[in-house]
Amino acid sequence: MDPVPTSIKLAAPGGVAITWNDGHQATYSYGYLRKQCPCATCRDKPPEVKTEPDPFPILGKGPIKVTGAAQIGHYAVQFNWNDGHATGIYSFSYLREICPCEQCRLKS
Ligand SMILES: [Zn+2]
Ligand SMILES: [Zn+2]
Repeated sequence: MDPVPTSIKLAAPGGVAITWNDGHQATYSYGYLRKQCPCATCRDKPPEVKTEPDPFPILGKGPIKVTGAAQIGHYAVQFNWNDGHATGIYSFSYLREICPCEQCRLKS
């Protein structure tokens, strides 16, 4: 059986924190997660992702951030971003695949 998240915290320190039903846990930074967006547009042309605070915050929107999320069926989650993007549907297996923790990075 594929692992499924038991909890997704959108505003954890450092990004989105996901706990899996097999006990695994990891925090995905917003910039990382946004760059991994699996939608056709972003796969075609990697998004420009702002991860640093704007030196002139009044002109910009600030660094990338998740503003909301919706679960899609029993297999995926869709994130809404503060850059207006919301078409990326991250399947649970994809999220697990891109897990940024050291343990998973060493495996791949
Ligand atoms: Zn996208
Ligand atoms: Zn991991």
